[in-house]
Amino acid sequence: MNELSYQWSLVRKKIEEACNRVGRDPNEVRVVTVTKYLDVEGTKQVLDAGFDHIGESRVQQAIPKWKELGNRGVWHFIGHLQSNKVKEVIGRFQYLHSLDRFSLAKEINRRAMQRNQTIRCFLQVNVSGEESKFGIAPNELTEFALEVAQLPQIEIVGLMTMAPKVDRPEEVRPVFRELKRCQQRLIKLESPRLQVPHLSMGMSQDFDIAIEEGATWIRLGSVLVGGMK
Ligand SMILES: *Cc1c(COP(=O)(O)O)cnc(C)c1O
Repeated sequence: MNELSYQWSLVRKKIEEACNRVGRDPNEVRVVTVTKYLDVEGTKQVLDAGFDHIGESRVQQAIPKWKELGNRGVWHFIGHLQSNKVKEVIGRFQYLHSLDRFSLAKEINRRAMQRNQTIRCFLQVNVSGEESKFGIAPNELTEFALEVAQLPQIEIVGLMTMAPKVDRPEEVRPVFRELKRCQQRLIKLESPRLQVPHLSMGMSQDFDIAIEEGATWIRLGSVLVGGMK
């Protein structure tokens, strides 16, 4: 068994255990394999091994890989996105996990319209309130979500957050719980154009806790591919 499938067997077990603890179906939890640490060859190995949701966080690194491998898999842009890079992402990445401001949403909508594309977006929420983190403040989320929902080329699929770096993973549980509350508040609006079924939260250090708190997409880098660098 190679390194990747071995790591995956451990991760899958942790996913199943977390689901069991809270009575969730493991099939509800999907994995974005974050390949930002890998070159083209490493990323190809990930795809060859059957991991078909690829996560990248930097346009400059991602595009050369996409040019080689973009005919395979589903590509998720998970990092901060500058408006002047939107044109690189539209038509290549099916998902954006980091929609965090209306100016970006308008640029995405404009570029996507030119190409007759749509893109699935997670609204990034800065739950922890750390200044170093991107994302919309929870108390501004409703207004932001309703505005973005008017843009025809953007399909909002849910909410995303980045938890702070902590010593004990357990400390981030309130952050994940608050994202779930944000989701419930948006669902209560019952706005027909605004669907937020998914929560993108949890990374290598804390994905089990994120699952217990309702994550439907987890973004895993080092725990899966860290040994392939
Ligand atoms: C790098 C990154 C991840 C994966 O982090 P790991 O700790 O390596 O699992 C997840 N999400 C985002 C936005 C990232 O930039």
